[in-house]
Amino acid sequence: MDGSDQQPFRLKYKEVQEVALIVQKYGGTSVANHERIRNVAERVLKAQRKGNDVVVVASAMSGETNRLIKLATDITELPDLREYDALISTGENVACALLAVTINNLGGKARSLCAAQVPIWAEGGFKDALIKDIETENIKKLLKQGYAVVVTGFQAVDEKGDIHTLGRGGSDTSAVAIAAALKADVCEIYTDVDGVYTADPNICPQARKIDEISYDEIMEMASLGAKVLHIRSVELAKNHNVKVAVLSSFEDKPGTMVVEGGDEMEQVIVSGVAYDKNEAKITLPRVPDRPGVASMLFKPLGEAHIVVDMIVQNASEEGYTDMTFTVRKEDLPRAKKIAGEVARKLHAGEIRADLNIAKISIIGVGMRSAAGVAAKMFDTLARAGVNIQMISTSEIKVSCVIEDKYTELAVRELHSAFELHKPQKAHAKKAGKKK
Ligand code: ADP
Ligand code: ASP
Ligand code: MG
Repeated sequence: MDGSDQQPFRLKYKEVQEVALIVQKYGGTSVANHERIRNVAERVLKAQRKGNDVVVVASAMSGETNRLIKLATDITELPDLREYDALISTGENVACALLAVTINNLGGKARSLCAAQVPIWAEGGFKDALIKDIETENIKKLLKQGYAVVVTGFQAVDEKGDIHTLGRGGSDTSAVAIAAALKADVCEIYTDVDGVYTADPNICPQARKIDEISYDEIMEMASLGAKVLHIRSVELAKNHNVKVAVLSSFEDKPGTMVVEGGDEMEQVIVSGVAYDKNEAKITLPRVPDRPGVASMLFKPLGEAHIVVDMIVQNASEEGYTDMTFTVRKEDLPRAKKIAGEVARKLHAGEIRADLNIAKISIIGVGMRSAAGVAAKMFDTLARAGVNIQMISTSEIKVSCVIEDKYTELAVRELHSAFELHKPQKAHAKKAGKKK
């Protein structure tokens, strides 16, 4: 963005610094050890000293959720999901209690609350639950008594008292949901980068920080793998008008503000590149080419709460088709089991699974009215010697599945081909879609 006729970000952010109720979310790296927890505690105390009410949402210490998942999956690939959630949600309890201990030790007043103590009510299955409702009474009571309230991210509880988790990266969603329920003035997402960039700054050194990003663009980036914000956190923020800022927990720098992308926003053609290494590809070869077959496969996957992303169907021989689709790696064992049963019923070929894939995407709201964007992406990948295995497009993105070893190369090449290191020029807004 050239920002010439926009209010400088710093001023906008200053406005929200002077508010009364702030939700601050700290990710795993920000609470990775005692020193970092102390840094978070000091930030919380600083915000309180300015007269704000502060609710903190914390994730598990970095690496902890992965460690807990491994403890379960070392026993079985298909653990009982109730017990799985009971186990993997515990990292957040530890981090929140440690943070409260630290704040209290520094002379402050903090109370940690797990989801059941708030309560944060779950709906849907285990492992990927949604937040149905958040009761705010307990939090408000503690805030009134001067406490910093430290709430576990990633967790929700159902009427039976069972703990559910919200999907990997779900603490962002906890924070925004709490901010929405409390009608907080801002939800600050503190992480290990100082904002949202045009691509992951950890793999693309040319990536440029974006001062303001529209809900739609960050939603698309998040859904395409840019894990800086959990996708549902952005949906919730948009639907409930929550002001979200992405900031560094290590440095005091202006971050990225998520804003309404109205007409005043620049409609850049490509605003970012994202990648996702968390998907796997399943192929059912030689499936009969007749009505009802796709539903026979995708209905049971949906019923098992397995999210299917890309789907490609290619005619193989007369009367048959190969069905290829992608799921999250963590769902692969369950998806393979279901697809295997369907393949047997259909007398299809042996199912194949490929874990060595990555999805690379370019995103931009101005793509709606620009021609040749997809072609430029394919050409850039071809020049870099990267083969495209699957393609999917929407109005504001193009995604390609490639072999995962080319991820970093593909991200950098696309970033440079679309000149994302330079501030982007707004594209003339025209009707119609011309990818
Ligand atoms: P936290 O533990 O704080 O929730 P995450 O690891 O979930 O942090 O998210 C932050 C990470 O997101 C960064 O370290 C960065 O590698 C990654 N990331 C991916 N795409 C982007 C992007 N476009 N802008 C900023 N960070 C990104
Ligand atoms: N600790 C959880 C995870 O690693 C939730 C989060 O970090 O947001 O996925
Ligand atoms: Mg995260």
